[in-house]
Amino acid sequence: MLNKKFKLQDTLDVYISEVEADKVLVTFSRMTTRERLEITTHRDVATFLARLNGEQTATELLTTLGHFDTKQAVTLLGFLQSKHLIYEVDNKETENPRYSRQIAYFDDMVLNQSGSESQQKLQTKHIAIIGCGAVTGAMAEILARAGVEKFTLVDDKKVHQSDLHRHLFCRMNQIGSYKTDVLADYLKRINYKIETTIFRERLLPKTDLNHWIADDVDLVINGCDEPYIGHTSLKIGRFLQTKNIPMYVMGGFDAHLMSSGELVFPPRTPCIDCCQQTFQKALADWKPTYTEVEKPDILVKEINDISVNQEKLFDIGGSGGLSVMSLFSANLSCLRIIQFLVGDVKFNYKTERYEYLIDKGEMTVFEMMKQAKFCELCNG
Ligand SMILES: [Zn+2]
Repeated sequence: MLNKKFKLQDTLDVYISEVEADKVLVTFSRMTTRERLEITTHRDVATFLARLNGEQTATELLTTLGHFDTKQAVTLLGFLQSKHLIYEVDNKETENPRYSRQIAYFDDMVLNQSGSESQQKLQTKHIAIIGCGAVTGAMAEILARAGVEKFTLVDDKKVHQSDLHRHLFCRMNQIGSYKTDVLADYLKRINYKIETTIFRERLLPKTDLNHWIADDVDLVINGCDEPYIGHTSLKIGRFLQTKNIPMYVMGGFDAHLMSSGELVFPPRTPCIDCCQQTFQKALADWKPTYTEVEKPDILVKEINDISVNQEKLFDIGGSGGLSVMSLFSANLSCLRIIQFLVGDVKFNYKTERYEYLIDKGEMTVFEMMKQAKFCELCNG
């Protein structure tokens, strides 16, 4: 251990104050979590900490301080590492400079593994996004910037002029191009290593999801809110449950423009049927509004009828909103998704949907529950 190079975590502020002759109080303050740790120690230890620059080995540094006890030095380094106060330089910056700051964050927040391991896990994930809109497009960007390198993108629609104010991955010269292609190109510019598989297709009741969802997919994000996200989530969620693949149902649509979505991954969370039951109970007097098509049975009939103008049938604009609202929803969702993907053991599987009420300045929570009598999957 003593022949390795160490550095203080980049997210730490360290204060040293005098106590008595050879003793000092060292206060570590973590900027990410605001956690504080205080130790009273010998002045030499404080000097050693101040000189940890990642350029000299621990032995070289300790030698400059004069005589030292090898056993005590190993104990000290072990203690500092176990408290996530220092890290081995060779394990971080030199291996992955692109993500070094994010790795420092993971080092502080995900305590069951090193920051590098968290980063590595993220980079091996395969995310499938069904419906490439304003919110899911922003989610794809956040995940790509965080390090995800493999995406499946599904959407049959083309970019319209009216998409430009909220679909931040779209540009004027891309009007008329397929959203999947535009998003794939955008992600590739963030990271040339990103691989995308594209399906310019529409989710229909008869769609065989095996065709879109490969066995190595780690998470499906359902952003398909046409005709109504509850219906599409039921179809996708029931399919994914047979494959043990988690689904994240997008938020930030219809009347809930500033909301997270929720993770559905039974039996850790309620299954998709229980989530729907929770909604039905809570919203007993409320019916989903279809922006252009009022009744789903008519819609189902019409989508099988090639004489109907399909573009018009599905060109549902929604009630509309600001780009900040889509970004808020995407950010809130991805905070949870990234914690889930890196495998943080502290991840809370409560299936909660958060919504920010702009007029009240309040964040509200709606929790989905397992339905005791109704569901075998959740209570079997
Ligand atoms: Zn259930």
